[in-house]
Amino acid sequence: MTEVKEEAGLLAKDRDYVWHSMKPYSPEATVIADEAKGCWVTDADGNRLLDAMSGLWCVNVGYGREELAEAAYEQLKRLSYFPLSQSHGPAIALAEKLNEMLGGDYVIFFSNSGSEANEAAFKIARQYHQQRGEHGRYKFISRYRSYHGNSMGALAATGQAQRKYKYEPLAPGFIHVAPPDSYRSPEKQDSKPVDLQSVQEMDRVMTWELGETIAGVIMEPIITGGGVLMPPDGYMAGVKEVCEKHGALLIVDEVICGFGRTGEPFGFMNYGAKPDIITMAKGITSAYLPLSATAVKKEIYEAFKGSDEYDYFRHVNTFGGNPAACALALKNLEILEQEGMYERSKKLGLQLKESLEKAIGEHSNVGNIRGKGLLIGIELVQDKETKEPLDVSLVNQIIGGCKKKGVLIGKNGATVAGYNNVLTLAPPLCVSEDELGLIVRVVSEEISRI
Ligand code: PMP
Repeated sequence: MTEVKEEAGLLAKDRDYVWHSMKPYSPEATVIADEAKGCWVTDADGNRLLDAMSGLWCVNVGYGREELAEAAYEQLKRLSYFPLSQSHGPAIALAEKLNEMLGGDYVIFFSNSGSEANEAAFKIARQYHQQRGEHGRYKFISRYRSYHGNSMGALAATGQAQRKYKYEPLAPGFIHVAPPDSYRSPEKQDSKPVDLQSVQEMDRVMTWELGETIAGVIMEPIITGGGVLMPPDGYMAGVKEVCEKHGALLIVDEVICGFGRTGEPFGFMNYGAKPDIITMAKGITSAYLPLSATAVKKEIYEAFKGSDEYDYFRHVNTFGGNPAACALALKNLEILEQEGMYERSKKLGLQLKESLEKAIGEHSNVGNIRGKGLLIGIELVQDKETKEPLDVSLVNQIIGGCKKKGVLIGKNGATVAGYNNVLTLAPPLCVSEDELGLIVRVVSEEISRI
């Protein structure tokens, strides 16, 4: 790494003027990005860093694709803005494309962020039940350790207690259940989905809460922010069955898992259950522009077509589905398909997991290496037998060591429970085999140094 020059000046100004989300990184860990191409970010001092955590903000096709900038530029020149209380070509084309990707039968409501897409989903679900005369259905079941956004409803759905800290009371009506954790509490894989313990627990909670009060269940296919938690086989199908039993809607949050991260266009496609509502965000534009969407089964949409003005979905989003973001998203989806990024994610993800297993699988501090596609978690422990989590200072030391060697990796887990111990690797889907080799080498070296 070269000597820090420009970055130091910017860092001082940054600390004076920019209010960061969460605790700002320490000066050594902060990257002040200047430009980026492919998987590589260049900081203000000209240092190049391989971004193996950009999957958390979903730069799926990689940085610096000129076609994406051009798609937005051309659209801005042609029609810079028009509201979706009326309509425009890019939003229509994108909604049609998303419906096709989802296998048909969905209509699309556009917003700008993952939080907003989830808020829209909650309001649609509640109103849907009202439209059908089921006035008592207002509750949502979500899981501990999940993340669904920062607004009062999405935060209420979020199952990470530190995010609620000092912000309560949040929106009422959100109830949490424990998520499955295939590493710490493995469940029998040969049972029927509804026989899985974690599914039975959800069923029990819905029964105790009274099924006729439940509007829906929200879940990520793989809980990413809470530590890359893998569901057992059949889990989502089991949850869907339980939702049907209680008359609740299944909402799947694809904000991270969508658009190829897990090796399929959408994460739920790995798990064989068709959700009633699907929310998606940053990956839809590979994070080049803000855009999100709530895809809703047509039969739900049909219930909003009553004769009264109040039968419509009364939810306005000024910038949701703006023309430039939609035009860019269409180009992004074309690149994902034409460059075989879904298949790449699946194939390279398997290779990455295998290489990590070979390099560090036996290491005494590596409890578990897991994931799907190019979303990989390495759970670090003090001891393989007891599974006691590795101290966060050592986890941070590994991350800092990787950064010094030019590789950015992430960390996820459940801070309040002392599980802030899962290294997250999620490079852009255009990552090369050589770049993956570099990630494996650097991460292994740094784990071996602790
Ligand atoms: N859902 C999930 C699964 C997320 O990971 C996030 C953010 N990373 C959100 C929702 C919220 O998205 P946003 O920050 O765009 O509001």
